[in-house]
Amino acid sequence: MTGTNWAGNLTYGASALLEPASVDELCEVVAAEPVVRGLGSRHSFNRIADTSGVQVSVAKLPALVEVDESAREVTVSAGLRYGELVEELDRAGWALHNLASLPHISVAGAIATGTHGSGDHNGSLASSVAALELVTGDGSVLTVRRGDTDFAGMVVSLGCLGIVTKVTLDIVPTFQVRQDVYEGVSWESIAANLDAITASAYSVSMFTDWGDAGAGQAWLKSRADVTPPADFFGAAPATRELHPLPDESAEFTTKQLGAPGVWWDRLPHFRLGFTPSNGEELQTEYLVPRFHALAAIDAVRSLAPAIRPHLFVSELRTIAADDLWLSPSHDLDCLAIHFTWRMHVPEVTALLPALDDALSPYAARPHWGKVFTSDRDRLDAAYPRIAEFRSLADRLDPTGTFRNEQTSGWLGRV
Ligand SMILES: Cc1cc2nc3c(=O)[nH]c(=O)nc-3n(C[C@H](O)[C@H](O)[C@H](O)COP(=O)(O)OP(=O)(O)OC[C@H]3O[C@@H](n4cnc5c(N)ncnc54)[C@H](O)[C@@H]3O)c2cc1C
Repeated sequence: MTGTNWAGNLTYGASALLEPASVDELCEVVAAEPVVRGLGSRHSFNRIADTSGVQVSVAKLPALVEVDESAREVTVSAGLRYGELVEELDRAGWALHNLASLPHISVAGAIATGTHGSGDHNGSLASSVAALELVTGDGSVLTVRRGDTDFAGMVVSLGCLGIVTKVTLDIVPTFQVRQDVYEGVSWESIAANLDAITASAYSVSMFTDWGDAGAGQAWLKSRADVTPPADFFGAAPATRELHPLPDESAEFTTKQLGAPGVWWDRLPHFRLGFTPSNGEELQTEYLVPRFHALAAIDAVRSLAPAIRPHLFVSELRTIAADDLWLSPSHDLDCLAIHFTWRMHVPEVTALLPALDDALSPYAARPHWGKVFTSDRDRLDAAYPRIAEFRSLADRLDPTGTFRNEQTSGWLGRV
């Protein structure tokens, strides 16, 4: 046993956790062990990072943050958490285009699941991957770069292709961001203005409990020189700092009230030095194409009486399309409908099939790192390149070193 995931809802069944200190040592481990799986910072809520063999973490490989200004890229060791690389990158005058709601997750783990932040023009974190280095099942090192054959299949890998050791990411010049929170966007206003709402800042997140009042909070992250609106589609600017959960302290959240700050201290909702969110929670998220966004919101609202007793809060945000085969935003600009559940495991588990049924008519794709019940047929229908991924995985990993029960079920690999 190798402990639990971050949320504590799973105890991993792996026989050991190995933490090689060099790539050579990692290659020996992978060549010697019959069944292996990469483990990042344990923030996934399902068994995607579990295995019947050994888990391998790359967190102890030498730390690397190497900026190539002329290529506008940074190469980082894959086990770094975003929070561990952002300050160094910023000191060099550079930034990542976006971050997830928390900086505590590893780069390798985030890109393997298609993790995203928010913003109409912001692709998932995986969309900024320019190159990857990984150790494949026979213990050899493979490097792939954007434009190479199959590269688009290799970034959102669900951990199935090998152990990622280095990741090269696109960078942009460092920038300052202000965060402004508004209270009270009604469902009527969302229905009438959704596109204008999500277009109104660099990144927009709305938080709702699916009650009749609509979204209790809208968080706008804008370039610092932008003047935010006095009236936000009927919502008023907050006059104090807020947490997405009304009863939680805002000391855990990134600064609001328009105070300008560096990108890495405003794009996540939660500050690195604090435990994010409520802790005891489960999460589910579906990405739906923008053209189905309002119908999908209505479908979830119809389940509100069943959802609300088990929910802390839901978040609505947008993600730009990318070309990565297993990315939940593959080829489509999306609205993400996220659920932070109370740790009501039996009740949430019982509710998930109804949520899946409600959203599947809208071509919904589940977040790979969260809890969901979409079966293989639904995933096959939702991901047009999934068969190509299956054959890529069979080619790169013919002996099944990186298979696990969870991903084999989703992909139909036996
Ligand atoms: C509080 C909280 C907030 C979150 N917020 C967001 C959010 O804003 N947006 C969002 O999209 N998601 C969010 N998530 C989900 C989270 O980003 C994903 O679950 C992500 O995959 C976690 O990364 P990790 O490093 O913990 O990976 P793990 O959970 O440890 O592993 C995830 C996958 O990555 C693989 N992997 C890890 N390391 C390697 C490696 N070196 N080589 C190959 N494969 C590897 C694993 O095998 C597994 O398949 C949140 C989760 C939590 C707990």
